[in-house]
Amino acid sequence: MLEAGGEEYLRAGALPHMWCPGCGIGIVLGALLRTFAELEYAKNEIVVVTGIGCTGKADDYLSTNALHVTHGRALAFATGVKAYKPGLKVVVIMGDGDSVTIGGNHFIHAARRNIDLTAIVINNFNFGMTGGQASATTPGGKFSSTTLYGNPERDFDVSALACVAGANYVARSTPYHGWALKQHIKEALCKKGFSLVEVFSPCPTNYGKYNEMGDPLKMLNWLKEKGVSREKYEQLEEPEKEDYFAIGTFCDRNSPDFNSRYEEIRARATGKG
Ligand code: SF4
Repeated sequence: MLEAGGEEYLRAGALPHMWCPGCGIGIVLGALLRTFAELEYAKNEIVVVTGIGCTGKADDYLSTNALHVTHGRALAFATGVKAYKPGLKVVVIMGDGDSVTIGGNHFIHAARRNIDLTAIVINNFNFGMTGGQASATTPGGKFSSTTLYGNPERDFDVSALACVAGANYVARSTPYHGWALKQHIKEALCKKGFSLVEVFSPCPTNYGKYNEMGDPLKMLNWLKEKGVSREKYEQLEEPEKEDYFAIGTFCDRNSPDFNSRYEEIRARATGKG
Protein backbone atom coordinates (compact mmCIF):
# COMPACT_ATOMS: atom_id res chain seq x y z
CA MET A 1 0.00 0.00 0.00
CA LEU A 2 1.35 3.44 -0.92
CA GLU A 3 0.86 6.51 1.23
CA ALA A 4 -1.05 9.56 0.01
CA GLY A 5 0.74 12.59 -1.43
CA GLY A 6 1.82 14.14 -4.69
CA GLU A 7 -1.59 15.67 -5.49
CA GLU A 8 0.06 19.06 -6.05
CA TYR A 9 1.55 17.72 -9.30
CA LEU A 10 -1.89 16.80 -10.69
CA ARG A 11 -3.62 19.24 -13.02
CA ALA A 12 -6.81 20.59 -11.45
CA GLY A 13 -9.93 19.14 -13.07
CA ALA A 14 -8.04 16.60 -15.20
CA LEU A 15 -9.43 13.53 -13.41
CA PRO A 16 -11.02 11.05 -13.92
CA HIS A 17 -8.32 9.44 -16.04
CA MET A 18 -8.89 7.42 -19.21
CA TRP A 19 -7.20 4.15 -18.21
CA CYS A 20 -9.20 0.91 -18.00
CA PRO A 21 -10.20 -0.42 -14.57
CA GLY A 22 -7.35 -2.58 -13.26
CA CYS A 23 -4.66 -1.02 -15.46
CA GLY A 24 -1.36 -0.45 -13.66
CA ILE A 25 -0.47 2.87 -15.32
CA GLY A 26 -2.22 4.96 -12.64
CA ILE A 27 -0.32 3.15 -9.87
CA VAL A 28 3.00 3.96 -11.55
CA LEU A 29 2.05 7.60 -12.07
CA GLY A 30 0.95 7.84 -8.41
CA ALA A 31 4.31 6.44 -7.29
CA LEU A 32 6.14 8.99 -9.45
CA LEU A 33 4.16 11.97 -8.10
CA ARG A 34 4.66 10.85 -4.49
CA THR A 35 8.38 10.63 -5.18
CA PHE A 36 8.39 14.17 -6.62
CA ALA A 37 6.76 15.30 -3.35
CA GLU A 38 9.24 13.37 -1.21
CA LEU A 39 12.18 14.93 -3.07
CA GLU A 40 10.50 18.36 -2.84
CA TYR A 41 10.80 18.99 -6.57
CA ALA A 42 9.40 22.32 -7.74
CA LYS A 43 6.92 21.96 -10.59
CA ASN A 44 8.82 24.30 -12.85
CA GLU A 45 12.07 22.30 -12.61
CA ILE A 46 10.40 19.08 -13.84
CA VAL A 47 9.79 18.19 -17.49
CA VAL A 48 7.76 15.04 -18.13
CA VAL A 49 8.06 13.78 -21.70
CA THR A 50 5.60 11.26 -23.15
CA GLY A 51 4.96 9.67 -26.51
CA ILE A 52 1.84 7.93 -27.80
CA GLY A 53 -0.45 5.20 -26.48
CA CYS A 54 -2.08 4.53 -23.12
CA THR A 55 1.10 5.37 -21.17
CA GLY A 56 1.62 8.41 -23.37
CA LYS A 57 -1.54 9.94 -21.87
CA ALA A 58 0.16 10.33 -18.47
CA ASP A 59 1.13 13.97 -19.05
CA ASP A 60 -2.55 14.94 -19.52
CA TYR A 61 -2.98 14.80 -15.76
CA LEU A 62 0.11 16.75 -14.70
CA SER A 63 0.66 20.35 -13.67
CA THR A 64 4.43 20.12 -14.24
CA ASN A 65 6.07 21.10 -17.53
CA ALA A 66 5.24 18.43 -20.11
CA LEU A 67 6.05 17.52 -23.69
CA HIS A 68 3.74 15.16 -25.56
CA VAL A 69 5.52 14.04 -28.71
CA THR A 70 5.39 11.62 -31.63
CA HIS A 71 5.37 7.85 -31.28
CA GLY A 72 8.75 6.38 -30.39
CA ARG A 73 10.50 9.76 -30.17
CA ALA A 74 10.01 10.63 -26.50
CA LEU A 75 13.65 9.88 -25.63
CA ALA A 76 14.90 11.87 -28.62
CA PHE A 77 12.96 14.98 -27.52
CA ALA A 78 13.98 14.43 -23.89
CA THR A 79 17.64 14.19 -24.91
CA GLY A 80 17.32 17.58 -26.60
CA VAL A 81 15.71 19.12 -23.52
CA LYS A 82 18.43 17.79 -21.20
CA ALA A 83 21.29 18.72 -23.51
CA TYR A 84 19.99 22.30 -23.80
CA LYS A 85 18.87 22.80 -20.18
CA PRO A 86 20.96 20.47 -17.98
CA GLY A 87 19.42 21.92 -14.81
CA LEU A 88 15.96 20.51 -15.54
CA LYS A 89 14.82 17.19 -14.10
CA VAL A 90 13.69 15.21 -17.12
CA VAL A 91 11.44 12.17 -16.75
CA VAL A 92 10.28 10.16 -19.76
CA ILE A 93 7.22 7.93 -19.31
CA MET A 94 6.79 5.37 -22.09
CA GLY A 95 5.11 2.11 -22.92
CA ASP A 96 6.95 -0.74 -24.60
CA GLY A 97 5.92 0.61 -28.01
CA ASP A 98 7.47 4.05 -27.46
CA SER A 99 10.57 2.76 -25.72
CA VAL A 100 11.79 -0.37 -27.46
CA THR A 101 9.53 -1.10 -30.44
CA ILE A 102 9.01 2.07 -32.47
CA GLY A 103 11.60 3.91 -30.37
CA GLY A 104 14.15 1.12 -29.92
CA ASN A 105 17.03 2.93 -31.54
CA HIS A 106 16.54 6.05 -29.40
CA PHE A 107 16.41 3.88 -26.29
CA ILE A 108 19.73 2.20 -27.02
CA HIS A 109 21.45 5.50 -27.76
CA ALA A 110 20.02 7.36 -24.77
CA ALA A 111 21.47 4.62 -22.54
CA ARG A 112 24.75 4.62 -24.48
CA ARG A 113 25.12 8.40 -24.10
CA ASN A 114 24.24 8.04 -20.43
CA ILE A 115 22.17 11.20 -20.74
CA ASP A 116 21.02 12.34 -17.30
CA LEU A 117 17.30 11.55 -17.34
CA THR A 118 14.94 8.99 -15.88
CA ALA A 119 13.03 6.66 -18.20
CA ILE A 120 10.01 4.85 -16.80
CA VAL A 121 8.94 2.04 -19.13
CA ILE A 122 5.53 0.59 -18.37
CA ASN A 123 5.85 -2.74 -20.13
CA ASN A 124 2.30 -3.99 -20.80
CA PHE A 125 3.49 -6.59 -23.36
CA ASN A 126 1.50 -5.19 -26.29
CA PHE A 127 0.19 -2.10 -28.07
CA GLY A 128 -2.74 -1.59 -25.68
CA MET A 129 -4.46 1.51 -27.00
CA THR A 130 -4.80 0.27 -30.56
CA GLY A 131 -6.23 -3.15 -29.72
CA GLY A 132 -3.48 -5.38 -28.34
CA GLN A 133 -1.11 -5.87 -31.27
CA ALA A 134 2.22 -7.62 -30.58
CA SER A 135 5.15 -5.40 -29.64
CA ALA A 136 8.86 -6.03 -29.12
CA THR A 137 8.11 -7.15 -25.56
CA THR A 138 5.30 -9.63 -26.31
CA PRO A 139 6.86 -12.87 -25.10
CA GLY A 140 7.56 -15.59 -27.65
CA GLY A 141 4.61 -17.95 -28.09
CA LYS A 142 2.12 -15.59 -26.40
CA PHE A 143 -1.09 -14.34 -27.95
CA SER A 144 -2.11 -10.91 -29.16
CA SER A 145 -4.49 -9.50 -31.76
CA THR A 146 -1.77 -9.93 -34.40
CA THR A 147 -0.40 -13.28 -33.12
CA LEU A 148 -3.60 -15.25 -32.63
CA TYR A 149 -1.74 -18.57 -32.89
CA GLY A 150 1.28 -17.49 -30.86
CA ASN A 151 4.10 -14.97 -31.28
CA PRO A 152 6.91 -16.36 -33.46
CA GLU A 153 9.32 -13.61 -32.31
CA ARG A 154 11.35 -13.39 -29.12
CA ASP A 155 10.89 -10.44 -26.77
CA PHE A 156 13.39 -7.81 -25.69
CA ASP A 157 14.57 -7.87 -22.08
CA VAL A 158 14.28 -4.10 -21.64
CA SER A 159 16.28 -3.94 -18.41
CA ALA A 160 19.12 -6.10 -19.75
CA LEU A 161 19.22 -3.98 -22.90
CA ALA A 162 19.62 -0.76 -20.87
CA CYS A 163 22.36 -2.31 -18.69
CA VAL A 164 24.52 -3.45 -21.60
CA ALA A 165 23.93 -0.22 -23.52
CA GLY A 166 25.46 1.82 -20.67
CA ALA A 167 22.74 3.05 -18.30
CA ASN A 168 23.89 4.04 -14.82
CA TYR A 169 20.82 2.68 -13.01
CA VAL A 170 18.38 -0.04 -14.02
CA ALA A 171 15.63 -1.63 -11.94
CA ARG A 172 12.43 -3.59 -12.55
CA SER A 173 9.28 -3.69 -10.45
CA THR A 174 5.50 -4.11 -10.85
CA PRO A 175 2.33 -2.27 -9.76
CA TYR A 176 1.83 -5.02 -7.16
CA HIS A 177 5.16 -4.13 -5.50
CA GLY A 178 4.12 -0.51 -4.92
CA TRP A 179 6.56 0.36 -2.16
CA ALA A 180 9.59 -1.12 -3.95
CA LEU A 181 8.45 0.57 -7.16
CA LYS A 182 8.48 3.97 -5.48
CA GLN A 183 11.91 3.32 -3.97
CA HIS A 184 13.29 2.41 -7.39
CA ILE A 185 11.82 5.58 -8.90
CA LYS A 186 13.45 7.61 -6.11
CA GLU A 187 16.84 5.97 -6.68
CA ALA A 188 16.50 6.54 -10.42
CA LEU A 189 15.64 10.24 -10.00
CA CYS A 190 18.59 10.73 -7.65
CA LYS A 191 21.06 9.02 -10.00
CA LYS A 192 23.15 11.14 -12.35
CA GLY A 193 23.15 9.58 -15.81
CA PHE A 194 20.60 7.48 -17.65
CA SER A 195 18.29 5.64 -15.27
CA LEU A 196 15.54 3.18 -16.12
CA VAL A 197 12.70 1.79 -14.07
CA GLU A 198 10.94 -0.94 -16.03
CA VAL A 199 7.50 -1.83 -14.72
CA PHE A 200 5.98 -5.18 -15.71
CA SER A 201 2.30 -4.28 -15.97
CA PRO A 202 0.48 -6.55 -18.45
CA CYS A 203 -2.51 -4.88 -20.11
CA PRO A 204 -5.64 -6.54 -18.63
CA THR A 205 -7.93 -5.42 -21.44
CA ASN A 206 -5.96 -6.92 -24.32
CA TYR A 207 -2.90 -8.99 -23.34
CA GLY A 208 -4.70 -10.47 -20.32
CA LYS A 209 -7.74 -11.32 -22.42
CA TYR A 210 -5.80 -12.95 -25.28
CA ASN A 211 -3.69 -14.96 -22.84
CA GLU A 212 -6.57 -15.90 -20.51
CA MET A 213 -4.91 -14.39 -17.45
CA GLY A 214 -8.22 -13.67 -15.71
CA ASP A 215 -9.48 -10.44 -14.18
CA PRO A 216 -7.16 -7.58 -13.04
CA LEU A 217 -7.03 -8.95 -9.48
CA LYS A 218 -5.80 -12.31 -10.77
CA MET A 219 -3.24 -10.47 -12.88
CA LEU A 220 -1.96 -8.57 -9.84
CA ASN A 221 -1.63 -11.89 -8.01
CA TRP A 222 0.25 -13.24 -11.02
CA LEU A 223 2.75 -10.37 -10.66
CA LYS A 224 3.06 -11.12 -6.94
CA GLU A 225 3.70 -14.82 -7.54
CA LYS A 226 5.95 -14.61 -10.61
CA GLY A 227 8.12 -11.62 -9.68
CA VAL A 228 11.08 -12.95 -7.67
CA SER A 229 14.35 -11.40 -6.50
CA ARG A 230 17.34 -11.58 -8.85
CA GLU A 231 19.10 -13.98 -6.50
CA LYS A 232 16.12 -16.35 -6.45
CA TYR A 233 15.68 -16.07 -10.20
CA GLU A 234 19.32 -16.99 -10.83
CA GLN A 235 18.91 -20.14 -8.76
CA LEU A 236 16.03 -21.42 -10.91
CA GLU A 237 16.62 -24.18 -13.44
CA GLU A 238 16.49 -23.06 -17.08
CA PRO A 239 12.97 -24.30 -17.99
CA GLU A 240 11.56 -22.87 -14.73
CA LYS A 241 12.98 -19.43 -15.54
CA GLU A 242 10.39 -19.06 -18.30
CA ASP A 243 7.62 -19.02 -15.69
CA TYR A 244 9.16 -16.31 -13.52
CA PHE A 245 10.81 -12.93 -13.89
CA ALA A 246 13.39 -11.08 -11.84
CA ILE A 247 12.62 -7.85 -10.00
CA GLY A 248 14.99 -5.50 -8.18
CA THR A 249 18.06 -3.48 -9.12
CA PHE A 250 20.07 -4.80 -12.07
CA CYS A 251 22.79 -2.17 -12.32
CA ASP A 252 23.87 0.81 -10.27
CA ARG A 253 27.07 2.61 -11.29
CA ASN A 254 28.43 6.12 -11.60
CA SER A 255 29.91 6.51 -15.09
CA PRO A 256 30.16 10.15 -16.21
CA ASP A 257 26.94 11.35 -17.83
CA PHE A 258 26.70 13.00 -21.26
CA ASN A 259 26.49 16.60 -20.05
CA SER A 260 29.56 16.27 -17.80
CA ARG A 261 31.64 14.83 -20.64
CA TYR A 262 30.35 17.48 -23.03
CA GLU A 263 31.28 20.29 -20.62
CA GLU A 264 34.80 18.88 -20.23
CA ILE A 265 35.30 18.79 -23.98
CA ARG A 266 33.84 22.27 -24.40
CA ALA A 267 36.22 23.62 -21.76
CA ARG A 268 39.19 22.07 -23.58
CA ALA A 269 38.00 23.36 -26.93
CA THR A 270 37.65 26.92 -25.61
CA GLY A 271 40.97 26.84 -23.77
CA LYS A 272 39.30 26.83 -20.32
CA GLY A 273 39.94 23.20 -19.48
S1 SF4 B 1 -5.80 -0.79 -23.01
FE1 SF4 B 1 -4.51 -1.92 -21.58
S2 SF4 B 1 -2.69 -0.56 -21.22
FE2 SF4 B 1 -4.35 0.66 -22.15
S3 SF4 B 1 -5.41 1.61 -20.40
FE3 SF4 B 1 -6.52 -0.28 -20.95
S4 SF4 B 1 -5.62 -1.85 -19.63
FE4 SF4 B 1 -4.21 -0.12 -19.62
